[in-house]
Order: sequence, then C-alpha cells, then structure tokens
Amino acid sequence: LNFDKASFKDFENIEGMGVYERSAFFAEYLDYLRKRGHLNYRMESMSGCGPEVEMNIAGLGGKKKYVSLVSNDYLGFTQHELVKKAAIEGIMRFGTGAGASPAIGGHFSFHEMLEKKIAGFFGRDAAITYTTGYTANSASLLCLLKKEDMAILDMSVHASVFEGCMNTNIKLFLHNNMDALERALKESKATHRTRIVVVDGVYSQDGDLAPLDMIIELTRHYGAYLMVDDAHGIGVLGRTGRGLIEEHNLLDKVDIISGTFSKTFGHVGGYVVASAELIQFLKYQSRQHLFSVTASPASMSILKAIDLIDEEPEWQDLLWENIIYFQKGLKDLGLDIGTTASGIVPVKIRDIPMTLEVGRLLLKAGVYANPIMYPAVSKKDSRIRMSLMATHTRPHLDKVLNAFSDISAKLRLGSRYQ
Ligand code: PMP
Repeated sequence: LNFDKASFKDFENIEGMGVYERSAFFAEYLDYLRKRGHLNYRMESMSGCGPEVEMNIAGLGGKKKYVSLVSNDYLGFTQHELVKKAAIEGIMRFGTGAGASPAIGGHFSFHEMLEKKIAGFFGRDAAITYTTGYTANSASLLCLLKKEDMAILDMSVHASVFEGCMNTNIKLFLHNNMDALERALKESKATHRTRIVVVDGVYSQDGDLAPLDMIIELTRHYGAYLMVDDAHGIGVLGRTGRGLIEEHNLLDKVDIISGTFSKTFGHVGGYVVASAELIQFLKYQSRQHLFSVTASPASMSILKAIDLIDEEPEWQDLLWENIIYFQKGLKDLGLDIGTTASGIVPVKIRDIPMTLEVGRLLLKAGVYANPIMYPAVSKKDSRIRMSLMATHTRPHLDKVLNAFSDISAKLRLGSRYQ
C-alpha cells in the first residue's frame, strides 16, 4: 500500500471555516477518496437490506449481487411475508400518511395499539413513540434534563444521547468502567438535582455489552435514575428476545428503556418505555413528539414484528448459530474482533487508509461491509463493522470468511496484531 498520507486531510480543519468554504474543502476531500475507490458512503442498494443485495458499483463489473453485512435487520423481518403484509394492510386501512401531529388528529387506533404493545413487550406501563430511534433518545432527554440536572453518560453511548443532553450538564465516564461511574455518581450527588445515567445495552460499534447488573446497583445506591438504549439487543439477546435488560432480569427495574423500530422490528421509528406518569409528561411536553407527525400507517408492520419475536423464536436461534460460526471463523484467521458478544462484529484494522483498503477489497470480492473510522470511533480504532442476520446462510458467511482470508494474507492483517 502506498497511501499519500500528506493529502489525507483531517476533518477537524474544517471547523474554523465558513459554510461555503467548508463545503468546498470537503468536496476536495471526498474527491480524494472517490478517486482511490475509497468512498462507500451512501452506496445504492437496488434490493433493500437483505443478506444479499444488488448493487451497481462503478469499476466493479456492473450490476452484481453482494453478500451484505450492513443491515441491523437482525432477524430478517423487513423481508418477512407477514410483516410486509401487515404494512400493506395498514396502508389499505388508514392510507399512506397520518396527516397531523398526535395532539391534533394524527393519533390513530394503531398508534395507540403500538404504544400499548411496545410497553407490554417489556412488561411495563406505558410508552411514547417517536419518528426515529435517534429522536426517541434526543427528544426525551432534552425534555427531561435541564440546567440543574446531570446526564452521566458512558462515553460510547450513541450520538443521539449526546444531542439530548444539550440543555443539561454532561459527565462522561470511561466506557464500561464502574469505578469511573461510581466517582461520577458520588461527586454529583450533592450538586445536581436529577441525575440520569444513560448507557447502551449493546454498543453499536464494538458489539460489547454494558454490565447492567453493576450499573443499576450503583445508580440506585447513589439515588440516580437509569436509562438504557438497547437498540441492538432487542431480538438478539435475552431468553425471549427482550434484550440485555431481560438477560439481567431488570425489565421491571430500569427506569427508562429506549429503543428503535428500525433494527429487529424491521421498520422505522423509536420508543421510550417508562412509568405512566413520566410517559404522559413526555407526550405533553416533548416538542419532537408534540409538533411532529405520527408514524405512517405502514408502521402496522411493527405490531406483527413484535408478535413474531414470541411466535417464531427460531429466528433468534438461527442468528446465534450465525454469530458463533462467523466470530469463530474470523478469530481462526487471526483477526481481532474485540469484545463483541452480539450480532455486531467488528474486525479491527486500526489504521484509517488500511481500513478503507480492506473495505474496497471486500467489495471487489463481492462482500459489502462498512469501513468505520473517525469520528464514529476514535482515530486509532478504525474497523470493518459487520452486522449478522438470521437469514445469512452458510455459503454467505463462507464467502465473507474466504474474502477476509485472502485480504488478510495480501495485506498481512493478522501479523499486525502480533
Ligand atoms: N441507538 C443506537 C444504539 C443506535 O445504534 C441507533 C442507530 N444507529 C440509534 C439509537 C438510532 O436509531 P434510528 O436509526 O432508528 O434513528
């Protein structure tokens, strides 16, 4: 590899520029990547987000099928016939849009059912839905925490959580470090009014898990509240697919559960589940809920997807067979998959140009997987990030493992860790 590192521009330089200057600089940067075949942002799939997708990538031989590892549709429900049928039924009954925000006519019978169903899924009292999982986090926190309060955040929580804390004080603690969490809780006890600890269940870039048993104990001990975003745990973890919170037997104890309908539930939207009073407060006070249109009737598919988690548990079993097989295969190749314990599988490359090159070679070999780098992860932690699905077959996974084997030999990836 002979990368021209000098012209590999750093994003941070754009901060001091005006918007047009910044756009021009950025265009140059993207051009640099594009010319080297290293720009795979917004790649166009012509066939949805299944385990195999059709794409037409310039320079790679026209329209072709690629094994895809980019979707968070863990159980394959976006392609499930009953889920698709439920979406169509929703549209046929209610039309294609809801027409108004919830307070002024946009709240239909299925929206009410959806709130009850997702609250019931966790065995809890009440839920509010939002347009996306991102908004569920950002909007609810914006509404709940003010300048007298404090959000105590694991430093690896999702970007949406950070956005939700713009009205309040933020204390970050080192990822999954319980001493650091305890220190933050102890120090803020006398100084801040309401303190909410926010963690992900499954972390979206490393696929590792939060030690929820210890987190809840500390949170309770120091009189704070706990919010868990288990976007990547639902349908994947827990005896009945209720996620990491179920795995720790904490479904009735975590104060606020947030999540998304866009991953295992195969649609779009987000939810917050909590006590009836807190949810009622959000329904009247949370601006992004109050002043924004409700979910499209196609979201009736979510009702079916929630049922399928109980009715067809075999999808979760199939997913785990794939996770175990694939993670072992990568480790056998000497690759570093970090501390994942979920359907998210990173292969850590660490160096940014090398990560981009691995992404390019994977595409060449018919494998679609995302190179992830700064600012999504720290500068020295670039990786290829993959998500597994229940609907990946052994031949799909073998194709990916073979590609990694070839690329690893070519770029001597394994030896980089020794
Ligand atoms: N939380 C986590 C942990 C996520 O990974 C994501 C999706 N990247 C979100 C929230 C946002 O969900 P959505 O895509 O539905 O907005």
